[in-house]
Amino acid sequence: MIVILNPDTRPDSRECAAVLDFLRAKPGITPRVHHVTGTQQVLTEIYLVGDTASLDRDEIESLPDVERVVRVSREYRVLGRHRDDTRAYGFTYNGIRFDQDSLHVFAGLCAVDTREHVEQMMQALQQNGQQCTRMGAYKPRTSPYSFQGLGASCLPWIFELAGKYDIKVMAMEVTHDSHVDEIMQALEAAGRPTGVMLQIGTRNTQNFELLKTVGRQQELPVLIKRGFGITIDESLNAAEYLASEGNRKVIFCLRGMKSNLGDPHRNFVDFTHVPVVKHLTLMPVCIDPSHSVGTRNRSSDGLMDLMHATAQGVIAGANMVLVDFHPAPHKALVDGPQALHLDELEIFLQDVDIARKAYIERRALAERLPQH
Ligand code: PEP
Ligand code: MN
Repeated sequence: MIVILNPDTRPDSRECAAVLDFLRAKPGITPRVHHVTGTQQVLTEIYLVGDTASLDRDEIESLPDVERVVRVSREYRVLGRHRDDTRAYGFTYNGIRFDQDSLHVFAGLCAVDTREHVEQMMQALQQNGQQCTRMGAYKPRTSPYSFQGLGASCLPWIFELAGKYDIKVMAMEVTHDSHVDEIMQALEAAGRPTGVMLQIGTRNTQNFELLKTVGRQQELPVLIKRGFGITIDESLNAAEYLASEGNRKVIFCLRGMKSNLGDPHRNFVDFTHVPVVKHLTLMPVCIDPSHSVGTRNRSSDGLMDLMHATAQGVIAGANMVLVDFHPAPHKALVDGPQALHLDELEIFLQDVDIARKAYIERRALAERLPQH
């Protein structure tokens, strides 16, 4: 059960304390306060854990300073979309708004290799009006002998260049608790010229201790990828770990499932789940066409499979696109074969725009759809 207090009731206020006292007096109930600072107002929500079936919703709703009570109908309490649940969700990070209506492209390097490549990438992004990117510094690799990423040593110059090219948010995977501290320290040392969205890769979707660490810090948003061999429910529960620890700035990323049934694609593309995740949860949904499709193959119509997959996700309402680009894919140390070239960026973005316009037109149809 979620008790939503009137807007602008602060968690440290007397009003909130009075509601908490009332709830704590109920046997077997533990209240936990969540605090959301939105663009317009401060929202305080109290999550109730324990025997909530015995609670009287009307009684709680009649308390002064309680706006509404939502009965939790899913396991993912914080991130789930419950019945009669019209909670506002979404967040603004470093000036960029993320919610289930927005759309941002995060084109960039799968793995950071040289300063020149990072600079060329960011320059191309700026020329194309982009303020988000992806930059892999810590790479989880199948073989211990493969390039593992430059790690903390590249952070100072990536952040410096991001400031130079006005990059506001970069997605960066972390595979260990210590990476979070390294990123925070490097951001601080660089004078916060940019922002970082911590990425949990598909191999770590159920690394619960990592999820707890990343969830405990509430400054940096988190992009969590769907586990490549687990159910959607298991992956959404993994996302809930982040929120249950306090970080609600969470975006969920579809990146294809490991299955030979998807051959010749690298993974079985699962972007039909974009509307499913939006229906089940409040999270913005990202698609990663690069790691799903895994090749630059072109269809008989001349468009790459990767562009088709992107368009399919965007026309279904995706809120973010994470996509590999590289100034010289043949020199890339990780995932070169799936990287797009910089001179393909403009066309890629145009294709995204076409699909987005079609989605917006399609969305208007919803109003005319009979309610059966
Ligand atoms: C990545 O985005 O660089 C990556 C490793 O992706 P995934 O975790 O989906 O394999
Ligand atoms: Mn990759």
